[in-house]
Amino acid sequence: MAREIITFECTECKRRNYTSMKEKRNTPGRLEKNKYCKWDRKHTLHRERSK
Ligand SMILES: [Zn+2]
Repeated sequence: MAREIITFECTECKRRNYTSMKEKRNTPGRLEKNKYCKWDRKHTLHRERSK
């Protein structure tokens, strides 16, 4: 199984707010998602952060 745990980091406050699993084969690039950041109290762009 080529699955790994990835962390999403808020691009505004740099806090790591979310974790997820991803299939390495299907998603080669870095993932970006709009997620709610409780520190910024709004939706911000979260970027995949490998370790
Ligand atoms: Zn934030």
